[in-house]
Amino acid sequence: MSELKDLMKKKLGFGCMRLPVLDGEQDRIDDQTFCEMIDSYMEQGFQYFDTAYPYHKEQSEEAVRRCLVERYDRDRFFLADKMPVWLVKSETDYEPIFQRQLERCGVDYFDFYLLHALDKDRILTIEANGGFEFAKKIKADGRAKHIGFSFHDSADVLDETLSRHPEIEFVQLQINYYDWESDIVQSRKCYETAVKYGIPVIVMEPVKGGTLANLIGRSAEVLKELDEQASFASYAIRFAASLDQVMLVLSGMSTKEQLADNTSYMKDFVPLSDKEKHAIVRVREELDKLPTIPCTSCQYCVDGCPKKIVIPDVFSAYNMSVQFGVNAISRGKYHDAVTDHGKASDCIRCGKCEGHCPQHLPIRDLLVDAARTFEQL
Ligand code: SF4
Ligand code: SF4
Repeated sequence: MSELKDLMKKKLGFGCMRLPVLDGEQDRIDDQTFCEMIDSYMEQGFQYFDTAYPYHKEQSEEAVRRCLVERYDRDRFFLADKMPVWLVKSETDYEPIFQRQLERCGVDYFDFYLLHALDKDRILTIEANGGFEFAKKIKADGRAKHIGFSFHDSADVLDETLSRHPEIEFVQLQINYYDWESDIVQSRKCYETAVKYGIPVIVMEPVKGGTLANLIGRSAEVLKELDEQASFASYAIRFAASLDQVMLVLSGMSTKEQLADNTSYMKDFVPLSDKEKHAIVRVREELDKLPTIPCTSCQYCVDGCPKKIVIPDVFSAYNMSVQFGVNAISRGKYHDAVTDHGKASDCIRCGKCEGHCPQHLPIRDLLVDAARTFEQL
């Protein structure tokens, strides 16, 4: 394990899922800005780039080829890519997809290769169709130097999976201080499971999709009292990087300013001090005090809704607005929740959902609040 961790001279990885784009179009990457960001990142001694098949409507891998692979010697950087397991219908699909990724990126091997976004169901599927065997094969033939997976499920599922797959060398987990004790994301429990198996961790979403860069109210004051100059994102990234078993923290950087901020404190990384750790706990406490909806996202209410409202996702967006304000991120989350589904205002107050809710939430009234928050501006 320590060998893999020792490969990382610096703990900040460049996530290539939120690259600068032209005219707001996700599939038109701004190569010039991306090249400048890569140059700055590399000049400061950072090395790790993380792309994936679906990022930027399948344009991220090719942008990495143009802006990184064709401009730097192959041994100067680590490149990670991921198998889009949801596209695999049978064992024979793995090889052509992998070949396409090598071609898109313009490389003949990946330093790190992951089975992408595994959860319990996907793990069972790829165990049956040869996904782990494929990962072992590309490691054996040298086309992947190290194999792992990114993961979105409970610590118990992670534990079972790691016990069955000793070939896995690292895991990529959602870890941030907000979700550290979350029953849904289970950041702490998943991290501790990786520790139990001695598996190094790559952290994704350390700033929770940008959420923790936008603190407001008392939680913002707690961090500003500590250091007027430090960005809110810096605490989130340093929190994740301060964990011993973490070998790398990924940050999806979209602008030169974000890159300059991230690299400024990750170039010569200093773990959080006790005072800073205490402040993070206080931020969590301040956020917990806010009147969010205690929805556990159990989904019991969803199937019976005649208007196809994905109630827990609407509540999650609403909660984000309560804690972090009505901003581009909470609006985006609401937009995602209602795209191809009912809006909060579509509720006809039939009440079917409330009979299924173990938390006895007044779902109909809460949907009115959500509609007021996101639909009347
Ligand atoms: S009360 Fe509203 S949200 Fe609940 S099931 Fe009926 S339409 Fe859906
Ligand atoms: S049943 Fe209640 S707790 Fe479960 S997802 Fe629906 S609103 Fe949330």
